[in-house]
Formats: sequence, structure tokens, C-alpha cells
Amino acid sequence: MRRRESICVFGNLASGIWPRRRTFILAMAAVLLLPVEASHAGWLSDLFKGSPKQGKSARQGKPPKHVASPKPATAAKRAASPKRTASPRRQNVKLAALGPVQIGPAAFKPAAARCDPAKFRIVLDVGHTAESEGAISARNVSEFVYNRRLAREIEEKLKAAGFAETRLLLTEGKARRSLVKRVDAANDMRADLLLSIHHDSVPSKFLEAWEFEGKKSRFSDRFSGYSVFVSRINPDFKTSFAFAELIGQEMKAQGLDYAKQYSQAIMGRYQRELLNKETGVYRYDELIVLRKTQMAAVLLEAGSIINRDEELQMNSPERRNIISSGVVAAMRTFCEPRWAMLGPL
Ligand SMILES: [Zn+2]
Repeated sequence: MRRRESICVFGNLASGIWPRRRTFILAMAAVLLLPVEASHAGWLSDLFKGSPKQGKSARQGKPPKHVASPKPATAAKRAASPKRTASPRRQNVKLAALGPVQIGPAAFKPAAARCDPAKFRIVLDVGHTAESEGAISARNVSEFVYNRRLAREIEEKLKAAGFAETRLLLTEGKARRSLVKRVDAANDMRADLLLSIHHDSVPSKFLEAWEFEGKKSRFSDRFSGYSVFVSRINPDFKTSFAFAELIGQEMKAQGLDYAKQYSQAIMGRYQRELLNKETGVYRYDELIVLRKTQMAAVLLEAGSIINRDEELQMNSPERRNIISSGVVAAMRTFCEPRWAMLGPL
């Protein structure tokens, strides 16, 4: 059985067009249809699924059973008082750490004059669909399953923290069409902020073979970590970047490392510009959910599920609690009145 090769933020959310000259034509690309690059059909799995029926049941199934299942009640309880360390580091984004994209202090002011948690509309976009499931983990579980579970836990905690207008966005259909649908849905909901939840994989050249529960599987233990992506083309890039920074800071405060390979040449055409070497925020202009949404938008790769050790961690309630609590903490910081004191953009 041929196994699909896939990676998260590349194949499914980006248009995949003109990788080498994208910076010159992004403005035009924003209004075009979403042409794709057939030469990477195996990798761009959701756009060109070679065998959509293969292994469907396994991919759509529950995560590995030897790992404990989530405990929503406990998770929600923890969310009521997420671990906070109100350090100066969190309050002062490290401008000095910024890379080539020089972003001034104004970048860290939210668009809203004041963020009222009770009214602030957060859309949690569950990456991929049941039909186009994204990456396949080292243990043959679809990324969509991971995304949906983590997004639900984040939703639960945000609501418990007072963000009553948080909505989960589950999209159906094949990848290309679903991208348009999810963006349209978020825009129709007039969301204030979109956070797209994903789990990471690697380019196919890094994949290795192994067997899990008697089935041939693929893995790569070479890379691990979370990463956060923003698009310069988003109409509210400054707010997007500010929120991405807060998420990255929270992840780091919890002792998590970000995925550094995206800044390295070995990623080839998938190399990304690292906007902050401290927080792991990358620039990825082409991502459709980031560039075509009318509100601030951030994509979080919560961790790698192609890395065998990290998949186990991503499947653990403890890790998911860290990540979901981090998102809640970032949201709270984002909405604190001190942000409003900075004034409108
Ligand atoms: Zn993904």
C-alpha cells in the first residue's frame, strides 16, 4: 500500500505556487484562484490525493491506544487558572531578536482599542478535514484527528477563561475547496482573530521506514517542536504578529522548543523567514488561511507527529494542557487593558 507523503503547513494551506519568486507576485496572487504544483503531488497530499481511500479507517481512528485519552473535565479545571509567569519578558517583545523584517513597536498593538473577552470573537480553525486529513503521524493517525482534539480542548479552556464567543471551525471537503470554505466561514463570522491549529510533519526526503503495530509506517525523529506562522499579506499583520509572539512566548515559558528547521537551508523551497529567533514565529505569506482572512490570523503548528517521541507527547493530556493553557494565557495577555493603552494603530 502506498503511503502518502505529507507535511502540514506546506501542502495543504499554501497555494504552493511559484516558490522561488513568490515575493514578487504575492499581491497579485491574493486574488487569483489557487493554482497548485503538480510536481509535488505526493507531498501536497490534500491537494492531490493519490489514494484517498487507502488506510482511511486507520487515519481517522483514535490516536494510539497505549496513550491516555484526554480528560476534558480536568483540563477545563486547569484552564481556569493557567500557569502564568508575569515576567517582564512576556510584556516586552524582543524587538532586538527580530530578523530581516524590521517591525517597529507599533506592530505590537492590537487592532481593537480594547479586547473584551466576553465579546471577542476567536475562531479556532481545525486544520484540514476528515476527507483531506493532512499529515499522517508516525503511528498512522491523521493530523486532522490531532488538530480536532487539541482545538476542542483550547476552545473549552478559552470559554472557561471567559472568552465566550470562541468558536470551533470544522470544515468539510477536499483541501483546496475547504480552504476557501474555511476562510469564507471565518470572514462571515466576523471573527476578531483566527487561530488555525495544526500538527507538523517533514518533507518526504526526511522520512524513514519502520513498523508500528505490524504496519509499515514512516517517521522522522530529526526534527521536533512547535512553530508559529503569520502572513505579511494578512490585512492585520501587526495584530497577527503580536498574537503570534505571545503564543511563542508562552510556549517557550513552558520549556518547549520551536522547530528551527524552517529557517535552515536544508528545507529548500520550504525554508521560511524566522521573524523572531526567540519565539519561533515564522513568516509564511502564502498560507491561504492567513492571507485571505479579513481578521488577524495565526497558524500554530503545535508539534511534530512524525517524530516518534513527540507524537507520544502530543498525544498526552499533559502536553495538550501545556499548549492549550499557553494559548489561553496568550489570549489573556492580548486582551489586557495595557494593550489598549498603546492606542489605536
Ligand atoms: Zn496541517
